[in-house]
Amino acid sequence: MADVTSTWTEPSNTPLSLLLLGKGTDPASERGVDCPGDLPAPSDPDLVARATAAKAALGDRVFVLGHHYQRDEVIQFADVTGDSFKLAQQAAARPDAEFIVFCGVHFMAESADILTKPDQKVILPDLAAGCSMADMAVLGQVETAWEHFQDLGITDQIVPVTYMNSSADIKGFVGRNKGVVCTSSNAKRALDWSFEQGSKVFFLPDQHLGRNTAVLEMGFDLDDCVLYDPHKPHGGLTGEQLTDARMILWRGHCSVHGRFTLDSVREVRERVPGVNVLVHPECRHDVVKAADYVGSTEYIIKALDAAPSGSAWAVGTELNLVRRLALAHPDKQIMFLDRTVCYCSTMNRIDLPHLVWALEELVAGRVPNVITVDEKTAHEARVALDQMLALP
Ligand code: SF4
Repeated sequence: MADVTSTWTEPSNTPLSLLLLGKGTDPASERGVDCPGDLPAPSDPDLVARATAAKAALGDRVFVLGHHYQRDEVIQFADVTGDSFKLAQQAAARPDAEFIVFCGVHFMAESADILTKPDQKVILPDLAAGCSMADMAVLGQVETAWEHFQDLGITDQIVPVTYMNSSADIKGFVGRNKGVVCTSSNAKRALDWSFEQGSKVFFLPDQHLGRNTAVLEMGFDLDDCVLYDPHKPHGGLTGEQLTDARMILWRGHCSVHGRFTLDSVREVRERVPGVNVLVHPECRHDVVKAADYVGSTEYIIKALDAAPSGSAWAVGTELNLVRRLALAHPDKQIMFLDRTVCYCSTMNRIDLPHLVWALEELVAGRVPNVITVDEKTAHEARVALDQMLALP
């Protein structure tokens, strides 16, 4: 067997690879805000000791959740790691924790708030940690689309489905219109259920997950899918196109997974003979079609855990996770699918200074950056989340 130890090679950065740390706003996110108070300097050599001490002082009062895409410096303080749905479930399973510190992005903290008790506080260490995909579906735009579908007389046939990666407002819209939330693990089951309730699905906000599931897992044609662009009148579609479509896909995508291309797949296959290409279903349709395996973050982790020693894998998902998996499996050749793809810049906003700041504020008796979903929205979103949990 070839010696494949230490095969991890850091992809070269793109100009977008990292935002400046510390205070500031992300002009690309509608949620960009400054953190109140003073953040520790990123260069402070005591950051790890300070986070350890603050967490110990809080004890069982605090529960720290870490998404798989978080930085190593943050993930080391997570009580549990997982994808967005697993983390929301974990938050709900800790009713005695006064504070849930969510190291992830805004929509995940909203879901945790929806699923936890009213007296628990969910804290996002940097309020500018939004998700560009979730930001691509704004409630007013979605309601405008729905009104147009009502004018066409097709809403009775449509079941709205939203990916977990959406705001609480959008989950609420889906709940009050008898739809369902899905994750990248259960998207097919959610669509199977939806097509038992109606003849069309309005899929939000990730066009790629919707298209990949419908075409590659359910046997739909690409022609059964239309793309609704919220920036064009009537989505840029004719009434006939909307009436004929089985899948109405919202024009949203993940800015990280959307960067992998067919050329990335071709290039790695030429460079590494016998490589297995493993991608997330948020990748573009042609990339997923050209891959050997496709699945959620949890699927990717399990696939690499189970992979034989000496096998080679090119992985198309967020870089922090791929790097950790490569370092955890030095007997396997695990590489990033693209040579130059960047991190999720909004996930990366949660850095150690923000985590230390949030924990030390809690120790001092102040509760910073609380994420709260209003009761009506939370109730409607819970309907759509419960429908997901009840999927056969
Ligand atoms: S990886 Fe994509 S979907 Fe996930 S938080 Fe970042 S932008 Fe959003």
